[in-house]
Amino acid sequence: MGSRGDSITELRGHLIICPVGPSDMPLLHRLGEAIRGTCGMVCEVVEVLDLPRQALDRGRGQYDCHAILKSLLKVESNCLRFMGVTEADLFIQALRYVYGVSQVDGRCSIISAHRLFPEFYNEAPDRGLLLQRLTKTAIHELGHSMGLTHCRERRCVMYSSIRIADTDFKGACFCPTCSELFRWNLERCLDCRTFRQ
Ligand SMILES: [Zn+2]
Ligand SMILES: [Zn+2]
Repeated sequence: MGSRGDSITELRGHLIICPVGPSDMPLLHRLGEAIRGTCGMVCEVVEVLDLPRQALDRGRGQYDCHAILKSLLKVESNCLRFMGVTEADLFIQALRYVYGVSQVDGRCSIISAHRLFPEFYNEAPDRGLLLQRLTKTAIHELGHSMGLTHCRERRCVMYSSIRIADTDFKGACFCPTCSELFRWNLERCLDCRTFRQ
């Protein structure tokens, strides 16, 4: 998994991983373990949510990220962060495709495994590589949802992936600066919650 930078192990915050549409459940449980190892958040994989029909753009054959995010926002949960994971291909207006999208500093994210499968690039199936890519994509979006922006350090998980080679080149961890910011923002979120209760 290309371990690099500090692991943030002593903090706890609850992340829900929600499969959206047909999903590989064992893979999602392994994703949860990987996120927990890097981000120090307890991860729970919940029941599958159907792909919202209104999110499908028939002309493009892809699903609209924002329509899916809207559906995720309706799911009641007291978790700190809520991440949908789908195998459907995602887009936002003006972009051909996206690997994922988050509400910046918000609760929900959606990521897609569609373009993370080696088979998508006519390569042999490789579940290890798929999990690595999925982990990097998930931690990247979790970073955005925690208020982090893109990083110029190409090995940092917050580096923007334009193509799959960017994802494969970068690590699954935050660089020291992003790690510090993530930890600080997570602490702040947890403090706010304690305050409200
Ligand atoms: Zn990004
Ligand atoms: Zn960074």
